[in-house]
Amino acid sequence: MRPDDTIRCSFCGRTQDQVRKMIAGAGNNNVYICDECIELCSEILEEELKARMKGRALRWPIYVS
Ligand SMILES: [Zn+2]
Repeated sequence: MRPDDTIRCSFCGRTQDQVRKMIAGAGNNNVYICDECIELCSEILEEELKARMKGRALRWPIYVS
């Protein structure tokens, strides 16, 4: 396997060997997200939605690091 064949999470840069699951983005852009980032994002979304219900303004985009 050539080095550039390694699938990496586009968010955290982990390789497919470092995570349990890697999900490919739409199209053929070699965009991937790993299960750990999905978990992190869903936590952030949950927090944001809670904040929204309290009337706090949302900030976009959300930066994870
Ligand atoms: Zn990731």
